[in-house]
Amino acid sequence: VTGSFVDKNVYDWSSEDEEPDGRARPVQVLVVKDDHTFELDEGALSRILLAEELRDREVVAISVAGAFRKGKSFLMDFMLRFMYNQACEDWVGDPDEPLTGFSWRGGSERETTGIQIWSEVFLVDKPDESKVAVLLMDTQGTFDSQSTLRDSATVFALSTMISSMQVYNISQNVQEDDLQHLQLFTEYGRLAMEETFLKPFQSMIFLVRDWSFPYEFPYGQEGGMKFLEKRLKISENQHEELQNVRKHIHSCFTNISCFLMPHPGLKVATNPHFDGRLKEIDPEFISNLQVLVPWLLSPRNLDVKEINGNKITCRGLLEYFKAYIKIYQG
Ligand code: GDP
Ligand code: MG
Repeated sequence: VTGSFVDKNVYDWSSEDEEPDGRARPVQVLVVKDDHTFELDEGALSRILLAEELRDREVVAISVAGAFRKGKSFLMDFMLRFMYNQACEDWVGDPDEPLTGFSWRGGSERETTGIQIWSEVFLVDKPDESKVAVLLMDTQGTFDSQSTLRDSATVFALSTMISSMQVYNISQNVQEDDLQHLQLFTEYGRLAMEETFLKPFQSMIFLVRDWSFPYEFPYGQEGGMKFLEKRLKISENQHEELQNVRKHIHSCFTNISCFLMPHPGLKVATNPHFDGRLKEIDPEFISNLQVLVPWLLSPRNLDVKEINGNKITCRGLLEYFKAYIKIYQG
């Protein structure tokens, strides 16, 4: 990484949600309750985004979304490692170090649907000398029944509206229903936004986990792009519905890309005592992680959040968050 560094933020943890050890942690800012209503923790969000050294900084907001128990939080924790150790070659960590950050060992218990953000927002120097604030968002959705699909759609829509980069985490392949879900979710988002001639959202990254056809399309971004081109291709002899889904997706995002990840190995997927240490993760997964994470998060690849063509600050993002949630609350 070229001459960049990450500042540790100093927070005002004198608030009521102070952690005993003052360490950074995930903060649940949006919860979908059992009666399918939404609750935004404005206080927590304000305390983070209105910190003095952040509020007037332009913000880069990175979100990971997709169905439950497909390794989103696990990936997020490696993204955190990168943000904390960006200047080091071996940011990925020691072979025996357990993986910490967002909680990723859910077992089979029911998870809340909602959005968590990392309490520490990172200040990063871009190669053009500008300093941006980088916010990491983890989302939880279940996608498992009609009633929760609507909740998940709202969470997905909100996280797409708020982020400058949405990582759509999917398992094994890009299926037609993954595309249909994406259409539904982005339609939810688009309806809530002002009409504009610009595409409503910025970057969409299809992240395919447990890709098992590397001989057809190799792991990584290039293989991913070729694969996605094929999946998103619109042709005359396709059913109209398939064409529409594809047109819709193209019309929503300024950038669309794809990355194919190998399976992390059986210990990661099945051992309940696995604590995230590298030693027990398939080396091929780690080497692809070392490509994926810098590709997503290197300073030169960080795009500031824009809404209607205007760059947004942390303070602005808070206002949009509040405005968007009002629309869904009806
Ligand atoms: P989330 O609900 O999408 O956030 O999923 P988690 O990150 O909590 O991970 C759920 C389970 O999947 C954990 O047991 C992880 O060890 C495991 N896991 C993490 N990454 C992968 C992956 O790429 N492939 C597979 N098969 N399992 C994974
Ligand atoms: Mg999770």
